[in-house]
Amino acid sequence: VTVVSEAKETKNVRADAPAGGSRIIEIEGLNKWYGDFHVLKDINLSVNKGEVVVIIGPSGSGKSTLIRCINRLEEHQEGKIVVDGIELTDDVKKIDQIRRETGMVFQQFNLFPHLTVLDNITLAPIRVRKWRRSKAEERARYFLEKVGIPEQANKYPGQLSGGQQQRVAIARALTMEPKVMLFDEPTSALDPEVIGEVLQVMVNLAKEGITMIVVTHEMGFAREVGDRVIFMDRGQIVEVGTPEHFFTNPQEERTKLFLSKIL
Ligand code: ADP
Ligand code: MG
Repeated sequence: VTVVSEAKETKNVRADAPAGGSRIIEIEGLNKWYGDFHVLKDINLSVNKGEVVVIIGPSGSGKSTLIRCINRLEEHQEGKIVVDGIELTDDVKKIDQIRRETGMVFQQFNLFPHLTVLDNITLAPIRVRKWRRSKAEERARYFLEKVGIPEQANKYPGQLSGGQQQRVAIARALTMEPKVMLFDEPTSALDPEVIGEVLQVMVNLAKEGITMIVVTHEMGFAREVGDRVIFMDRGQIVEVGTPEHFFTNPQEERTKLFLSKIL
């Protein structure tokens, strides 16, 4: 019995993007440790341009670590990560280049409290992209309009609801014109009544064809716009399929157990 359950626990599947698409992210044989703790175990994942990939899994399974490796907020020890043809190595120039191409949205917004909404959004474009302030502000206002809060430009984050702050964070990421958007549980810290407005913004982005990797347990979102769902457990990819597969036909016991808790 022990042997059988151990075999199950080491199940690891590849999450390859559909053939024929144009690969924007390729991860091969990714392994990462925090000290002695093996947090990511031989992850193989690729994403095509325009795909929306949803990552689900229990707390502590390595979801945040995985997406943080994609823009080098975490370093990996083994394997290959390629974003839009650029391989992530210690080369600082390449890291900067990949960070410019990957917009990240966190659970806790990470806005600067002492800066207005507009200044939060224009900071990176002015400093990193070297845009003139007028151009940065024009683009910032365009994306504030897009996330539905153009009237909040001159407020401070503390004056906004959580949902509005998260929409600012999304606008901030978009203003950098990233090729991939990474979302790490963007609605987990929100009051229930504002979750919908943030998900709607994300649905709109997905429908526009922006490539997205989204860690979330919002299966309604997955069902509406997700191309693939990846279930992670204990540092491995345990099951991959369409949202429909996870609703109707999950195969692994661990997946079923997890879904029974969130659905
Ligand atoms: P998830 O996002 O799926 O909840 P994480 O990627 O945050 O999982 O964490 C995976 C595991 O790695 C957890 O056991 C967590 O405690 C551990 N971990 C995360 N960050 C660190 C760190 N900086 N140092 C050591 N352990 C960490
Ligand atoms: Mg996490």
